[in-house]
Amino acid sequence: MSRKLNRILVVDGSEVARTIIVRILNEEMPDTELVTCGTVQEACARLERDQFDLITTSLMLPDQDGLELSRYVRASRNHHYTPTIVVSGDADSRLLREGFAAGVTDYFDKSLGYRAFAAFIKDFMQRNSGLVGRILYVEDSQLTAAMLTRLMERHGLQVIHTTHAEDALQLLRDTAPGGPRAELAFDVVITDFFLQGRLTGGDLLHAIRARFHFSQQELPVLVLTGSEGDEKQIEVFHAGANDFVAKPVVEEVLMARIRSLLLIRQQFAALKRQTEATQRMAITDSLTRVYNRRYLLDHGEQFVANRANQPVTAVLLDIDHFKKINDNLGHITGDRVLEALGQLLLDRLPENAMAVRFGGEEFALLVPRCQSNEAQDCAEDLRYGVEALRPAGVDITVSIGLATNQHNPAMTLTQLLNRADKALYAAKAQGRNKVCA
Ligand code: GH3
Ligand code: MG
Ligand code: MG
Ligand code: MG
Repeated sequence: MSRKLNRILVVDGSEVARTIIVRILNEEMPDTELVTCGTVQEACARLERDQFDLITTSLMLPDQDGLELSRYVRASRNHHYTPTIVVSGDADSRLLREGFAAGVTDYFDKSLGYRAFAAFIKDFMQRNSGLVGRILYVEDSQLTAAMLTRLMERHGLQVIHTTHAEDALQLLRDTAPGGPRAELAFDVVITDFFLQGRLTGGDLLHAIRARFHFSQQELPVLVLTGSEGDEKQIEVFHAGANDFVAKPVVEEVLMARIRSLLLIRQQFAALKRQTEATQRMAITDSLTRVYNRRYLLDHGEQFVANRANQPVTAVLLDIDHFKKINDNLGHITGDRVLEALGQLLLDRLPENAMAVRFGGEEFALLVPRCQSNEAQDCAEDLRYGVEALRPAGVDITVSIGLATNQHNPAMTLTQLLNRADKALYAAKAQGRNKVCA
């Protein structure tokens, strides 16, 4: 899922301190590789050669100081985004004043002890790892794109990068709900504000909100801006962004923003799933999984009247001598029979048909675009299917009544069901296990 921040550079002037830090960090985080340096010069040489995921440095060092090292890190090509933590004796006022501008990610007060330091580092790394989500990242600078993609992937994110807003729009279209690749929906969009090509990041944002109608909860958008003033930021929010991050990007800031946007998106998805489940439950019969009677009453009339469904066949299906099953084998077996019959209907019926539990052991089916001879054949198939079903090891049969509106398209649901009920009564009267129209 997520990879660890697995390489730390520890810079401290004291050899004793370095030894203790390494020992404790090794204990706390056995699968992290530690490299130590005693001076800024040594650290810079090391950063030039190797890639690190985190840098900790004391404020006071023999040659220069930790802020100097932090400035070097921010100005470097390969560690531009690497978090840098400064360890100092106490809350040094210079550190508070200059640390942020020097690109320091966080501070640690050394007087809290080495154990607390190890816990702090561990927590820092956990906070910065283990994100789960699909990010659509739109960026026209290949260098920035490569760096930020790698950075986000290191935190466990799946990143799909495009250079142009046009390509991003195509991806969003394909992965939108109901689209051909809806299962690959994105969790967060991150876009550069300035893009080459016809569309800018602002245009992309506008399309996401106004054309696709993705809300800020359904598809959060984070905009990467330059260091322009408030006006640009206001513009970004007006365009529908959830948030922005100024370039050059500080890793911790970017990850914190992404983390909170993912949370918003996950909460939205959970709420949507819950709502859908509740809605489904409200219209489904819990035992047989077909629609309940309420659903038929709410939607049946419209189904029968719908021009696209003509002609409609109504089917009433009733289990023969079901009371005997309950009486002889128990109510639970009776339930299992009903359950299996519900499943059979769901399996056999065309997808656009409506299957309803009409009463205790009676089902109503509305089949669209079904001629009467066709309906007769389908009903016979269903009757054979039930005979062969033997749910819970019990032999059952059904009687079926059919009615169609083929010769009277103005027929209402109630009239159609009344006719089907009369046909069902006839099937029972003729000895059961029969289809009557
Ligand atoms: P017929 O062939 O005339 O339809 O006879 P029948 O015994 O099937 O019909 P009747 O209407 O006399 O009995 C239906 C029985 O279905 C009565 C009722 O206890 C039972 N029943 C209704 N709902 C449920 C249920 O959810 N579970 C179980 N196990 N039985 C149910
Ligand atoms: Mg750009
Ligand atoms: Mg019955
Ligand atoms: Mg009955």
